[in-house]
Amino acid sequence: LPRLPIFEAIKKHDAESTAVVHSLSGRRFTYGELVNDVAAAKDKLQRNAGGKDTAGERISFLVENGYDYVVTLLSILAAHAIAVPLAPTFPAHELRYIIDQSESLMLLSSEMFQAKADEVLKDGMETSPINYKQDKIMMGRTDDYVTLEEPVSDKGGMMLYTSGTTSRPKGVLLPQDVLTAQSMSLLKAWDYSSKDVLLHVLPLHHIHGTVNALLTPLYVGSTIEFQFPFNASAVWERLAAPFLPNPDHSKKPITFFTVVPTIYTRLLATHPSLSPELQAATKKALHPSSMRLNISGSAALPTPVKAAWTELSGGNVLLERYGMTEVGMALSCGLSFADRVDGSVGWPLPSVQARLVDTETGDIIKEGEEVDPETGHERHGEIQLRGPTIFREYWRNPEATAKEFVDDADGWGKWFKTGDVAVRRKVEGTGKSAQDWAHGPLYFIQGRKSADIIKTGGEKVSALEIEREMLSLPQVSEVAVVGLPSEAWGQKVACVVVLSGTGKTAGRGGRPWSALDMRRELKEILANYKIPQEMKVVESIPRNAMGKINKKQLIKQIWGEAL
Ligand code: ATP
Ligand code: MG
Repeated sequence: LPRLPIFEAIKKHDAESTAVVHSLSGRRFTYGELVNDVAAAKDKLQRNAGGKDTAGERISFLVENGYDYVVTLLSILAAHAIAVPLAPTFPAHELRYIIDQSESLMLLSSEMFQAKADEVLKDGMETSPINYKQDKIMMGRTDDYVTLEEPVSDKGGMMLYTSGTTSRPKGVLLPQDVLTAQSMSLLKAWDYSSKDVLLHVLPLHHIHGTVNALLTPLYVGSTIEFQFPFNASAVWERLAAPFLPNPDHSKKPITFFTVVPTIYTRLLATHPSLSPELQAATKKALHPSSMRLNISGSAALPTPVKAAWTELSGGNVLLERYGMTEVGMALSCGLSFADRVDGSVGWPLPSVQARLVDTETGDIIKEGEEVDPETGHERHGEIQLRGPTIFREYWRNPEATAKEFVDDADGWGKWFKTGDVAVRRKVEGTGKSAQDWAHGPLYFIQGRKSADIIKTGGEKVSALEIEREMLSLPQVSEVAVVGLPSEAWGQKVACVVVLSGTGKTAGRGGRPWSALDMRRELKEILANYKIPQEMKVVESIPRNAMGKINKKQLIKQIWGEAL
């Protein structure tokens, strides 16, 4: 595949083939239309820039998922500007923060978000409509925020903000060449094709929804069908549509679906309430003979969720991968089902260089040195990455950028410190994918160095591993494991649990399961020092848009400021 900027790449596709579908209305847009509309939108954008060269300028936009979003994003990239997608769900002050922090030249908004855009840009904004095909896109100039003293790069790209799980979202600058490298790597690994029809239900201001589920399939001319916001029953109905006794022939079978674990959980929870006819059709829709690839990522995939999906789909094993805003996708399981080992995120993707750096000694953990010969324990290492897919810098934050990169004397460039910890294990029977990158010991994510690696009585334990074990109990529906300060142990393991329906009546006399019941059960599956010493049962655990838990906030909320 040629390494072209995305706008050049889509010009090469069959103009008649379908690029985008709006699932609910059934409206479809061809690649030919897309190319024309992007060209027109790009011209309009440049005309509205007040004579300023748009190259390297940040342009924020607030547009709902669908064709207009795609046109807006690609037109900004075609204008060599830096696209800053905003989340419609953010309150005005958060949007304002991102527009200010990114020093955006303009804010583009669709008609749907006009009022919100006006609210964000209260003070004396000029607005003028730019008409795309179907809806009006309003364009507001944010002249106040333009700084001219900075040299601008002549390349466009995207600026995505991190999920804000551990602190305030950071602006991550991903130049066009980095985005292209990320897509090329994924194309090779996951084999996207022009025949793929992808059902898109993710937010579009994160890398998962934008790079994996939009830009990369656009590179090869796949069809992207948008359904937003996510609704579990609507997803099931759409998946089932081509397989009903009276199929809707305008709906093609979905071949590609990539979402976060919480979405799989919600889909599985909704499935039993579907009509028998729908249930039968969804089974066909998910079967590996029709559904080519189901991917999970952005947070750890609970093993029971994976198992339930395999069961429901007649053997379509979820492929788990690991990535982050700063690096795109970095590790992934392989295409062969044998290479989708429970709890593992696989191997470094094509063109990604990865290494594990021992969190205790700072040594690089070489292949074959994964186990400490003295203690017999697996060595925990921070994942460090480099290569053409890695971001350049945190926007306007040189201190953070400098802090997160380490030099290497080998002259091949700096390594990015992900802050995530993993172990590596050889697993028999893997390496079957016939993909040159998918072999050797597999990576198993242990969690964030800052929140998930708990040191208790001289032992290091991974919150993620305990969570995985606890989720295998039918009484537990959700769990967050944390480390609390302890005088005796340094840290002690604690957890916050949401009981499942079964769990609510599993205790003595039909009462909810107690901490005591839980501990008794956990003794069977966990070493003593891994069993949470404190357990709190709650109704729900707060998560952000990507289904992630801010553990520091959770600790504060449950155990108070005293800690
Ligand atoms: P912030 O950086 O603002 O605190 P964030 O790290 O959650 O937020 P993202 O860049 O969206 O923002 O998420 C990347 C993180 O998600 C990774 O660093 C990792 O901790 C977690 N993650 C991604 N995929 C997986 C996975 N398969 N298993 C476990 N954790 C994962
Ligand atoms: Mg992060």
